[in-house]
Amino acid sequence: MSFSPLIQQLITSLRCLPGVGPKSAQRMAFHLLERDSEGAIALSEALQKAVSEVGRCQSCRTLSENDICDICVSESRDKHLLCVLESPVDALAVEQTGGFNGKYFVLSGHLSPIDGIGPEDLGIDLLLERIRTEEISEIILATNPTVEGEATAHFIAAQVKALDVKVSRIAHGVPVGGELEFVDGGTLAHAIAGRRSLL
Ligand SMILES: [Zn+2]
Repeated sequence: MSFSPLIQQLITSLRCLPGVGPKSAQRMAFHLLERDSEGAIALSEALQKAVSEVGRCQSCRTLSENDICDICVSESRDKHLLCVLESPVDALAVEQTGGFNGKYFVLSGHLSPIDGIGPEDLGIDLLLERIRTEEISEIILATNPTVEGEATAHFIAAQVKALDVKVSRIAHGVPVGGELEFVDGGTLAHAIAGRRSLL
């Protein structure tokens, strides 16, 4: 069955969302048109407004509609501690734990020579500039524990070696509440290599 051009266009547009295949896009499109036209209008307005107004914070590069985001502006955050992540979603994940009170720096992904993504594409220059000019005493490299994420963390560590700043890497290991026998070998090896003293 073929849809009218406008319905087809809506279905095709919805497929730009991650994890949305043809069937889900179809279901969403019909739901919006048949049952929730108000929601559809609110969605389209929110999308347009967000896309036109949300940009990057000039200090930490997370997504924000302000030139400098709320966290960068905040006086109650520890400005000596800078957590470096691969994406705004990662910063949000750390923020939602409620366990970190420092500031953030969001890279535009990770180093990937195969895709032609080098240090200048990630904003590492701006990161180094901040370390040189601000009162940052420790950077926490919280890039993902993937090959590319590790390479990116090591690259940054090498770049800041000459600067007067402590560099740490987030710990990887056994999940809280997990049992060792069900943890994969790579994770367990990381956990043992990254052990810390209890006493
Ligand atoms: Zn910011």
